[in-house]
Amino acid sequence: PPARLPVALAGRSYEVLVGEDLLSRAGALMAPVLPARRVAIVTDESVGPLHLDTLRGGLEAAGFEIRTTVAVPPGEGSKSFAQLAHVLEALMAAGVDRRTAVVALGGGVVGDLAGYAAASALRGLPFVQVPTTLLAQVDSSVGGKTGINLKAGKNLAGAFHQPAVVLADTATLATLPPRELRAGYAEVAKHGLLQGPLWDWCEQHGARAVAGEADALRHAVLESCRLKSAVVAADEREESAEGGRALLNLGHTFGHALEAECGYDGSLLHGEAVAIGLGLAARLSARLGRCDAGLPARVEAHIAAVGLPARIRDLPRGFTVEALMGRMRKDKKVRDGALRFVLLRAPGQVFTTGDVPAAEVEALLREEG
Ligand code: NAD
Ligand code: ZN
Repeated sequence: PPARLPVALAGRSYEVLVGEDLLSRAGALMAPVLPARRVAIVTDESVGPLHLDTLRGGLEAAGFEIRTTVAVPPGEGSKSFAQLAHVLEALMAAGVDRRTAVVALGGGVVGDLAGYAAASALRGLPFVQVPTTLLAQVDSSVGGKTGINLKAGKNLAGAFHQPAVVLADTATLATLPPRELRAGYAEVAKHGLLQGPLWDWCEQHGARAVAGEADALRHAVLESCRLKSAVVAADEREESAEGGRALLNLGHTFGHALEAECGYDGSLLHGEAVAIGLGLAARLSARLGRCDAGLPARVEAHIAAVGLPARIRDLPRGFTVEALMGRMRKDKKVRDGALRFVLLRAPGQVFTTGDVPAAEVEALLREEG
């Protein structure tokens, strides 16, 4: 049986189910939390051929009616108005009603797009996440954030729309390209640094998860979701500037700047940018005297050990300090020459601060070369 993690929200609570071969039992697992045995599936053109038949079988075995299946092109480009319109029109053409659930089968792109479609179709349809990337299983499928990108930036149109249940089937990760698996692992390492004991586990067993070993993946997904769901339960709508969901941005201020510079063209995956960001966050913490001087080396050693880039110099292209500083200033609204960052005291002890001098960040990036 799958492990069941409750996500306890003020309005309505739901469970994250983690285990193997959940797709083939999807109908039985979803039926108790859905108003009707009727679904519309949204996936992408890469995931569909690999896992759609298993999911369909699992739904039909429990008497579900599949009203329609929509497959969007794979990749970040599908978090667009055009694909949102395509999904919404397909839902309406299939005659969905308020009791028809939207099931997202895929990575974070499909989850964010399908979730936003579910939030807006008929002013809100029940929604089920069936994440098939490590990133989606440990991060994007839990927490209720959905949305698409605008020309002005990523994730700028969206809604909070919590799923009725999340089915994280770790067996689906077997078909994921190794680079995508590693990139998703960066968020596990991030959760480890936020949580503490999970970081120690990462140092000992993380490499086995990245190598695709089933028990290690299951543990990584389960413990990541435990951490994320606790954070989300305490701050569902990201209302706290200091604690709560803001802490999930560890490594992301640097990461987003690197990603934005690369233009989301697939040359630098989000998780790869976050991996470097974690190392830089540790370096910045040490530089400001907030953590043990040995922590940055420890973080970078683990990142490198799992095959992720640990330093900016590990990337095939260069970045100017000016460009990265410009991105971070835009991202974070500088106040009096100071930037907001999530910093580390030690694994399991993180905090946000709005008073990091821009000059210190700049000096750190210059050192990076
Ligand atoms: P993705 O959805 O693009 O998936 C990565 C690639 O893997 C795609 O090409 C996809 O077709 C393929 N794929 C997916 N599952 C597969 C499988 N089992 N086997 C083979 N191939 C498979 O990317 P992602 O990394 O999962 O998600 C990134 C997105 O998540 C970004 O848009 C990001 O903004 C979003 N995100 C959202 C949240 C949130 O809270 N909503 C949090 C973090 C990230
Ligand atoms: Zn992230």
